[in-house]
Amino acid sequence: MTPEATELLLRGAEELGTDLSPHVEAFARLLLLLQEGAAQTNLTAIRSEHDIVLKHFVDSLTCLRGRWLDGDGHVLDLGTGAGFPALPLAIVRPDLRLVPVDATAKKIAFVTRTAAALGLENVTPLTARAEALGRDPAHRGGYDRVVTRAVASLPALAELALPLLREGGVLVAQKGLVSPEELEAGRLAAAEVGGEVRAVDAFALPVLGEARTLVVVGKTGPTPDRYPRREGVPARKPLF
Ligand code: SAM
Repeated sequence: MTPEATELLLRGAEELGTDLSPHVEAFARLLLLLQEGAAQTNLTAIRSEHDIVLKHFVDSLTCLRGRWLDGDGHVLDLGTGAGFPALPLAIVRPDLRLVPVDATAKKIAFVTRTAAALGLENVTPLTARAEALGRDPAHRGGYDRVVTRAVASLPALAELALPLLREGGVLVAQKGLVSPEELEAGRLAAAEVGGEVRAVDAFALPVLGEARTLVVVGKTGPTPDRYPRREGVPARKPLF
């Protein structure tokens, strides 16, 4: 990683209140592996060092805002893609047990190789659709937290994530700008699947200033057995 990129990483994380200086080497290796991986397969559209540092690494760590992930816990990353936010979180928070999940096997193969190369023993990647996990007794209700970045609309995320959470668990959804309509649909969907919106945290991405929103949904009661609906339906025909 160039000195400029290292400086950006440290500065961006500092704006979030996180000191990444003990982790610079791990992030430099992750950067290299991501660039190598992206050259071989279509892993991510974000390729330059500057963009990877800010739009993948620093952006991923914004889910630490508000301390919703405090305490050790079992955390599922729904639709992790090339490992975001799971891999940056695993580096910074070795106390969390992270399960990055994606429907695409080649993305999970990359996350598995990368976690092993970085010696991240707290990461257990899984190729699966969230709909299938939400109906699988081995996973339904099995997580303290679900994190998810840039995957679906709020009503779809509520239907996919809430079945996976234990009661008292929390979904932290990392989004760009969220319209009032999407937020209202998310509130209604959350209530339908046993949750409620606990916080809407709008902020600017460090250095770049782009708009970001964390939407936090708490699981307050059981999710009815009929949710999640079958594969593809939550995103194609959102509840609200
Ligand atoms: N979270 C990553 C990031 O921020 O870079 C990847 C975002 S990418 C736009 C969305 C990912 O979600 C894709 O890799 C897709 O395969 C995955 N995905 C979408 N719906 C899913 C579902 N129902 N179950 C599992 N993975 C899903």
